[in-house]
Amino acid sequence: MSRLIWQYNRIDLCFKGKAVSRGIGIGKIVRLQSRRRFYQTRLSEGGKSKELRRFRAAVRLAKRQLRKLVSRESSSVQRGIFEAQIFILEDREFIEKIESKISEGTSAELAIREIANRYIILYKEIQDEAIREKYIDVEDVSDRILSILNRSAHLLTQISEDTILVIDELKPSVIVEFGKKGLVKGVISESGGWTSHAFIIARELGIPAVTGLQGFSRLVVGGETAVVNGYDGEVILFPSEETIKTFSERVEKKSFSFSEFQGNETKTLDGKVIEILVNLDFVETYENAKKLGAKGVGLYRSEFLFNQRKGFPSELEQFEVYKKIVESVGEDRVKIRTFDLNAEGFSEQFHERNPALGLRAIRLGLTYEREFRKQIRALLRASAARSIDVVLPMISDISEILKAKKILREEREKLVDRKVRVGELRLGIMVEVPSAVFMIEEFLAEVDFVNLGTNDLVQYILAVDRDNESVSDWFRTLHPAVIRAIDIVLRKAEETEKEVVVCGEMAGSPVYVPILVGLGATRLSMNVNSIARIRHFISNIAYEEAYEVARKVLQAKSADEAEEIVHRKFTQNWRHLFPSEFFPKGKS
Ligand code: PEP
Ligand code: MG
Repeated sequence: MSRLIWQYNRIDLCFKGKAVSRGIGIGKIVRLQSRRRFYQTRLSEGGKSKELRRFRAAVRLAKRQLRKLVSRESSSVQRGIFEAQIFILEDREFIEKIESKISEGTSAELAIREIANRYIILYKEIQDEAIREKYIDVEDVSDRILSILNRSAHLLTQISEDTILVIDELKPSVIVEFGKKGLVKGVISESGGWTSHAFIIARELGIPAVTGLQGFSRLVVGGETAVVNGYDGEVILFPSEETIKTFSERVEKKSFSFSEFQGNETKTLDGKVIEILVNLDFVETYENAKKLGAKGVGLYRSEFLFNQRKGFPSELEQFEVYKKIVESVGEDRVKIRTFDLNAEGFSEQFHERNPALGLRAIRLGLTYEREFRKQIRALLRASAARSIDVVLPMISDISEILKAKKILREEREKLVDRKVRVGELRLGIMVEVPSAVFMIEEFLAEVDFVNLGTNDLVQYILAVDRDNESVSDWFRTLHPAVIRAIDIVLRKAEETEKEVVVCGEMAGSPVYVPILVGLGATRLSMNVNSIARIRHFISNIAYEEAYEVARKVLQAKSADEAEEIVHRKFTQNWRHLFPSEFFPKGKS
């Protein structure tokens, strides 16, 4: 159950969770359920016709939703997906099969699952790739009807201005679909941590979020007013007028004046230049990032683009998107990471006991080599206009790099033979598992650059699931083992004059940036909404003092000691660089 911390009076019920996206959000609660359960039921005669009506109404609503999405969507890729799904709902044979199951006495949910699964299996066996991929649309569209039947879709249609989403587990697709419309003012989630992908997106969209409030969704029904305080993890249910007024003032208040950054260079007080890049999830964001001083894209998570549909997009769809990114970024460099999906993200048919250690990222790419080759071809073609940096995720052995390089060479040759225009790809890897740290010299010899993925590095070095709220106390970014690993990579890269971009969430946090700078990092890639804050911070500290703190942290014997060193430095020397809400209540 959520921890009830205090009660101002009978109205202001205050819960304490973890802040994962800064800002204040005030609005009315809409509750969503991310997991569904189905039960085998036998329907009575009367029940059968009621169930048929329920199913037909859900199909009608799904079609209406999809038509609306088609009319609003500007991207031809996304429009095509929604159109294909309407087509499935108009397929008489598919619908009749489900209806006949219901007429036999099966619940609508089970009937959909059973029939959809049969189609999915059949499609998956088809040789022709274009037809085979239709299973993804069947899966997606049946999910949509299931959520409508589950009532959550009714709730989705209730999302209006000033919504506070309450959810058991926030999925990237949910925050993308609803957050982008600007209606969601805050998120309260039961699970997920600072580095969960959904919260990375929430930060990019500037939506305040609090996580770790287990059982919270059972306490509300929807429609209640709530305040989400994304600075210190507070959630206030039934806020009084006075509380709303106090927090409303904070919604308006901007923490920093951004006008201080007119030039593009970010330097420490003693003149060390730090290059600021952006982690981009939506192409449109780049314009703003550039204005704020980003000098390129340090990480584009290609899988985010397609996470509303399961499975892999076609080569043409990918080509169009990558080309658009390269065009939007112009003269600056862009690093596009190949799909970092796990098996479940690829298809709901897969279930792994431990997805973080499973068929994820480069492993999935090399297992489904056709798909990987398709992505490489799309990237090669998109680089014809301007060169692209390609990043391979989760590399743990040199053989993965060598295989990828071979594929790259072969696909390039084939395209050239076919007289297709291709450009240059520079190849890099994510350094995010311990073996990559130990083998960094060998890996560096094979690549043009590396991206340091500190989110996964912490997860794998400390064996702590980054998405599991119950072990979040063990997710210690400043653990000396993590800091020493980062130090090794930065030093080896410097020796071999290879570029390193730090692109985990650490690079966008003022608490960790001085340590990174002190260790010698010169390229930091972060969420667009962190850029101004980090530039402000870097411009007001000296490299020399950052170096000293970093040395001390490197020598610390424990995470506690490392955190204490950093905390002391902040309170003694850097406190003035932060808005007051930055320092949690009670800490000096
Ligand atoms: C990381 O692991 O730090 C990273 C940048 O990649 P992702 O968060 O997508 O796993
Ligand atoms: Mg990672």
